[in-house]
Amino acid sequence: MKRILLATVAAFTVTGAWAEYPEKPITIVVPFSAGGPTDKVARDFAEAVRKPLGNATIVIENVGGAGGTLGATRVAKAAPDGYTLLLHHIGMATSPALYRNLQYKTEEFEYLGLINEVPMTLIGKPTLPAANYAELLKWIDANKGKVNLANAGLGAASHLCGLLFQSTLKVDMTTVPYKGTGPAMTDLIGGQVDLMCDQTTNTTGQIEGGKVKAFAVTTPKRLTTPTLAKLPTLDESGMKGFNVSIWHGLYAPKGTPKAVIDKVNAALKVALKDPDFDKRQEALGAVVVTDARTSPAEHKKWVAAEIDKWGPVIKAAGQYAD
Ligand code: ASP
Repeated sequence: MKRILLATVAAFTVTGAWAEYPEKPITIVVPFSAGGPTDKVARDFAEAVRKPLGNATIVIENVGGAGGTLGATRVAKAAPDGYTLLLHHIGMATSPALYRNLQYKTEEFEYLGLINEVPMTLIGKPTLPAANYAELLKWIDANKGKVNLANAGLGAASHLCGLLFQSTLKVDMTTVPYKGTGPAMTDLIGGQVDLMCDQTTNTTGQIEGGKVKAFAVTTPKRLTTPTLAKLPTLDESGMKGFNVSIWHGLYAPKGTPKAVIDKVNAALKVALKDPDFDKRQEALGAVVVTDARTSPAEHKKWVAAEIDKWGPVIKAAGQYAD
């Protein structure tokens, strides 16, 4: 009897404790450098999601390196208490095929919901002597063996996009890896690297400001954001079928209590309908996912499908890291 009573009290205590969640600041780990595309999405999202979480304090922690795998590892091994979350992109699905010694397993995460989809753009340093995509191809041809391409490491979206670009062109470029395309963008603007394929959340402002040259978008259809609408698709420019768009989702370490998962997921759904968040995403060329895609079950299904889609492409390209 006494034991039953104790167990009942313990059960109530646990439920009660999670009912107050969050009681302290939540850290969202971004597995890339500050100032880059995923960081920008995370900071906007944090602002929108903190309100439905009772005006919680949210701290963004940038853990860049190894194409996002260092940050993902940090969260996979963190306490499953809802206070360390991960905002990651397509790398969640590509890293398992790319890294032979990945320090975490995809199964080590709870899924809290998809956030948005983000197209990419092919951009170049401002001094690159090409005014459009056709001229860029001529310049690449004339500079074979000398062209370099920035990316955010193996498994990053910029890596994936650059890889497809090179293999479709059948041209090898020297890749220059960074901890995120935030610092890569600084070097591109400074002319230290030639080209980069990066998310519109990072490139729209730089294209608008004339800081970089923009040559094409990676989606099958042209984009509607005013700055980007004039850019041709790679598909219409001769790379038939070229289509790279990335997505972001929110994760917690495996074993996070269901009450916390439900609370954060409910807050995510509210955040995605926040007009300020929506407007900002639209202005940066990103598309917030529909409500139907935000459940943890749909998120998990999506990641599994993306692993199935990209695994064979990556293996066929012979890409891997130890
Ligand atoms: N999303 C990465 C970043 O925020 C870049 C990438 O995936 O290419 O830097």
